[in-house]
Amino acid sequence: MPRPPVPNATPSGERRAAFDGLVARVQACQRCPRMQGRARVLSRANGPLHARVLFVGEAPGRRGGDRTGVPFCGDQSGALFDTLLAAAGLRREAVFVTNAVLCNPRDAKGRNARPTRAELAACSDYLQAQIALVDPTWVVALGHTALQALRRLAAHPLRLPADVGRAVAWNGRWLVALYHPAPRALLRRPLSVQVEDYRQLARLLATAATGPAAPPA
Ligand code: SF4
Repeated sequence: MPRPPVPNATPSGERRAAFDGLVARVQACQRCPRMQGRARVLSRANGPLHARVLFVGEAPGRRGGDRTGVPFCGDQSGALFDTLLAAAGLRREAVFVTNAVLCNPRDAKGRNARPTRAELAACSDYLQAQIALVDPTWVVALGHTALQALRRLAAHPLRLPADVGRAVAWNGRWLVALYHPAPRALLRRPLSVQVEDYRQLARLLATAATGPAAPPA
């Protein structure tokens, strides 16, 4: 699969400087009242800036990214994500991982909560900037909220569960939908099925590396 037309290709030094500038803006961000006191989970620890694959989750978890400063790290979702990445033959150090919102939203009882539409909108330009800077060939949406956030940047037809493991041309890249690696998602999509989903992702990536040049459905 050839790559769709790519909007830009920033030299690596400029890319690092631009990313560090973005991180500084994010670390100072006060747009969302509910995120006061939460970590802004964006840094070089999210992954290499030249990554070919960029994953987008929902939000940092209370016991995960908010505590460790790294998305999908330190909680059950992170452990599951590592298991699924291994099923796809992907090393965590080789992919860039971020979230639709960069801070951990909590409900009134202090539990992880879904980001609101306003929070997704507030963080949308940061997501756009990350994708533009990393410039991945593949963007992988982990769950409904990630698909929703990416739809804000450019239209796409992907829905879960109908389109899990399907690749579509999107915004000069390929976009793939997978389930979010949260324990609650296992109730709807068991681990064995999600392992197959990630093997399907591996096949897509391998096809793209070696041809043939078949466009995605
Ligand atoms: S979620 Fe995004 S927009 Fe909201 S405070 Fe955090 S960094 Fe800022």
